[in-house]
Amino acid sequence: MSEVEKFKTILTEKGASITKPRLAVFQTLQELDQPAKTGEIAKRTPSIDRTSVYRTLELFAQLGITTTIIRGWTPLTELAEPFKAHHHHIMCETCGAHESIESETLEDILQVVAGRHGYTLKQHTVELTGQCAACQTKGKK
Ligand SMILES: [Zn+2]
Ligand SMILES: [Zn+2]
Repeated sequence: MSEVEKFKTILTEKGASITKPRLAVFQTLQELDQPAKTGEIAKRTPSIDRTSVYRTLELFAQLGITTTIIRGWTPLTELAEPFKAHHHHIMCETCGAHESIESETLEDILQVVAGRHGYTLKQHTVELTGQCAACQTKGKK
């Protein structure tokens, strides 16, 4: 199944209709190489008016099509697990460089920690910030 078909299936299953704005916003999200601000997603979807983009993104978040990452005070959006493998991000606070992290160790530890509190873990948000190797080297000079 292609990603667009998967997307359409989710909308249909949740009783939401497949509309042009929803398809357009989904396409923009697919083209992002990193989580983006709502305003930026709107800018990259010029065929759809801003209000519709915002409303569409709210719906996507509710349906679990996207996840929201809080970086600093800014909420950023990216596609969620049906479309993107589960991962986390690490960002350099000096130069803004960023990478995705896929770590089974991290996932396992989170399960263990939740279990110790008697919980089964359903979801989690983990964001890491630090200083990248390049900036550390520069700092030493
Ligand atoms: Zn850096
Ligand atoms: Zn995780």
